[in-house]
This record gives sequence, C-alpha cells and structure tokens, in this order.
Amino acid sequence: MSNDLLRADALAAGYGPVPVLHGVDLSVPLGTITAVIGANGAGKTTLLRTLSGMLRPTAGRILLDGKDLRGTPVEQLVRRGVAHVPEGRGVIGELTVEENLRLGALWRRDRAAAARALDEAYQLFEPLARRRRHLGHQLSGGERQMLALGRALVGRPRLLLLDEPSLGLAPKVVAQTMALLRQLRDDTGLTVLLVEQNVRSALAVADQGIVMSLGRVVLAAPAAQLRDDTDLRHAYLGF
Ligand code: ATP
Repeated sequence: MSNDLLRADALAAGYGPVPVLHGVDLSVPLGTITAVIGANGAGKTTLLRTLSGMLRPTAGRILLDGKDLRGTPVEQLVRRGVAHVPEGRGVIGELTVEENLRLGALWRRDRAAAARALDEAYQLFEPLARRRRHLGHQLSGGERQMLALGRALVGRPRLLLLDEPSLGLAPKVVAQTMALLRQLRDDTGLTVLLVEQNVRSALAVADQGIVMSLGRVVLAAPAAQLRDDTDLRHAYLGF
C-alpha cells in the first residue's frame, strides 16, 4: 500500500485554449512537506489551482487517498480536507479577522470543535487575537499571511496547498511561517504542498522537492539531496 495522500498522473490543465500543465506526475506522501520549485511561468500556481479544484484538468487524474477526484466540486474537496491558500492570500479586506477565520470553519458541523479550532488559531497567531475586530485590510502583510493560514487551518485540513507564503514578507516572518509548517507536520501529520520562489527556505523545511519546468515535473528528489548535491542544484536550480 502506498502512503501517498496525493497523487497526480499525467495531469494537464490551462486557461481556455492555452495549455499550461503538460502532463504532471507527482506523489505527496502523507505527513510530509513538498516544495514545488521552478522558474516564473513554470506552472506552479496553475498546478495548485488544479489540485484545489479551482481549475478543471483537461486530462489526467488527481488521486486523494487513492480516490479519483475528477468532477468533485470545490466544497466537497474542502470537506475532504484540501485547503488552498492562494498567492496574494485571499483575505477578505471588508471582514474582520474573526469573520475571516470563521469562514474557514463554516462547513464544519461540529460547532464546538470549530470554536476550539478558532481558539487554537489565536494561540498560534497571537497578533490576530489582539486584532480580532480589525478589518482584513487594516492588517500588515505578515498578519494577513497569518490570517490566511489560520483560516485554512481552522478547517482542519489534511492537505494544505500553499502558494508563495513568503511573498512580500520580512525574513523573520518567513522563518516563523516555515517553522510553523514543520511543527504542524510533526504534531498533527499535516501534509503540505508548498510553492516557493524562496528556494532555500523552502528546501530547508521540506522533505521532498519537486522541480517544474514548462508545465512538467522534471525532477522529484529528497529535499536533503537538492540542498546538498551541488551538481543537481546547478543543473536544476541554478545556484
Ligand atoms: P510565477 O512564479 O510567476 O507565479 P508559476 O510557475 O506559478 O509562475 P503560473 O502562474 O502557473 O506559473 O503560470 C504559468 C503560465 O500560465 C504562464 O505562462 C502564465 O502567463 C499563464 N497564466 C497564468 N494565469 C493565467 C490566466 N489566468 N490566464 C491565462 N494564462 C495564465
């Protein structure tokens, strides 16, 4: 039996007539962090959008727990534990911090558990607890990042799809975010697919690295190998 939470086989997707993913194969083991790396335009964001159900694949399969997700509506994907934090983070500026967080738990039937998850999010992200009644657009970049992550986490996802969490953030906040991902992986078995331009910090936290180029996965390797093997790094990462 495979312990992959997520698999993509020959996945293709694009925007209207423009193909972007040309047959992506990948495996993401349960309870691990996978960094998706690649040049601008390689298709990383498009891959996350396709995996989260925002974009329909034109070919290929996505398997969660070995089950084909074809035709599964986004709400169902959320119920099955897939959370997507898009690039730009998608915090709703006109809603308060608390309202944004509650959105993440809206679908949960167990209201008591949802309330507990909210408390946990405030413990995890203390600045948010102090700014519960502030509007999304009043927050700093780092706080918005926390809120977007917090909103995803209150839904108790099994798979977190995270697009460019370090974009526009101070190095200290980036380091905190990466440490938090590692903690969630270790403590709760969370599985993460992380798209990052900041290759070094992504590989520092990841178990596996996937390199994309022109809409394909050209290399999948243990993150430690990508960190340590100079030839591999030169060939695929350019540093
Ligand atoms: P980046 O790091 O710049 O975000 P990426 O690897 O995430 O790059 P994508 O954003 O997935 O790459 O973009 C892949 C290709 O798809 C690019 O050529 C881009 O121009 C195109 N593309 C992205 N979004 C759209 C869209 N909404 N409509 C049409 N084409 C798009």
